[in-house]
Amino acid sequence: MTTHTRFRPVLNPHLKGFACIRYPVEHVFDRDSSVGDDGFGCPFCLAAGLPASVSLLYDDSKLDFSLIAKDNPASGSSHYWPLLAYSGAPTRGEGNTPLVELFSLSSEIGVGRLYLIQFGAEPTGSHKDLMTPQAVARGLALGRKVVTCASSGNAGASMVTYAAAAGQEAVIFATPKMNALWAAHIRSAGARLIVCQSANERWFRMGEMVKRGEAYPVTNFLKPPVGSNPFGVEAYATAAWRSLRPLAIGDGASAGALRVPDWVIVPTARGDLLWGMWRGFLRAHAAGLITSLPRMVAAEPLMRLEAVLVHGADYRQNFQGPPHLMSSIGGETATLQSELALRQSNGLAVTVSTEQALAAFNLLCHFEGIFLELSSAAALAALQILRERAVIGPGHTVLLAGTSHGYKEPPGVEVPVASLT
Ligand SMILES: [Zn+2]
Repeated sequence: MTTHTRFRPVLNPHLKGFACIRYPVEHVFDRDSSVGDDGFGCPFCLAAGLPASVSLLYDDSKLDFSLIAKDNPASGSSHYWPLLAYSGAPTRGEGNTPLVELFSLSSEIGVGRLYLIQFGAEPTGSHKDLMTPQAVARGLALGRKVVTCASSGNAGASMVTYAAAAGQEAVIFATPKMNALWAAHIRSAGARLIVCQSANERWFRMGEMVKRGEAYPVTNFLKPPVGSNPFGVEAYATAAWRSLRPLAIGDGASAGALRVPDWVIVPTARGDLLWGMWRGFLRAHAAGLITSLPRMVAAEPLMRLEAVLVHGADYRQNFQGPPHLMSSIGGETATLQSELALRQSNGLAVTVSTEQALAAFNLLCHFEGIFLELSSAAALAALQILRERAVIGPGHTVLLAGTSHGYKEPPGVEVPVASLT
């Protein structure tokens, strides 16, 4: 394994430090702190038994947020580097994420405008390709030669890709359910695949490796979880920023105005994408680029965040639900970052059954020719549920996060072919 790389990440000079997401004013850490790197989130909140991630703090007055409004679609994620932690991060062409307007389905479901951000078009076919480069860049900049993640799916495929490009070694902790093709990809990239018997064992063993200082963490390993590497999670803001420009076309908006969706629906497990996109909208709003904010919706396969928001459950507890086939958003845990994205945006969580996700999956294929992973189709199912409840209205603009395409479905998922004619 070579350790040479042509990537030379450069830290944003306007990064000031880190802020606890629970107490962003009281729990602040300077930029030399390891708080963004050790995977434990805010140490004060952890000590109090309230695990909470951290977000990155910048001197925003020095950043040029106007680039969000500039149309430069061919440059991908590098277009946004001045607003992220690292320029010169490893890139495989990610970030040119298509934003597709779903004309037929918007009419069928009865909403004003409906968009899908198609993360399946990223280099390894999922949204993780927005997160991984910044996390890997951080590891490179710190001189860490090994990166690690706990994943039996999209995060692992993404991490081995960027680690290989950056000349880093990668260690993946997976469960036996892993797709054989992904395992082949990981091994072909020269990464180490460690198969654990359960998701909990996966987190535990990854955590032990991180604590020994043997690898730099890209994903969560704590239980209760805090979420993934904050340098990576922050980069999901670019998906929010990218969604703003095409929505500005038409609609009678004044010249240069950016149109904001009324609702953003995100398939959610530990909420990295949900939180990262919400932070992106918040930063654009604080910079004066947009004048309104969307309401965020988490689509989930069992009642976790819905239990937290509606029934007052504690986000740190274990959540149980009936079996389902939405493996990319499964698991028994929730995070504070998810809860905060929903509370701060006056959003909500919607529990989607396998049957509802399958129906939405078929609708997407039939009306739009779009083939998504079942976990991603859950976002459309959540929209249908909220439309039926008249929470989302007929004039609203809705953005769905299509986190991955259907070719990434793990084995064992047999999707019935529906007759819609
Ligand atoms: Zn804290």
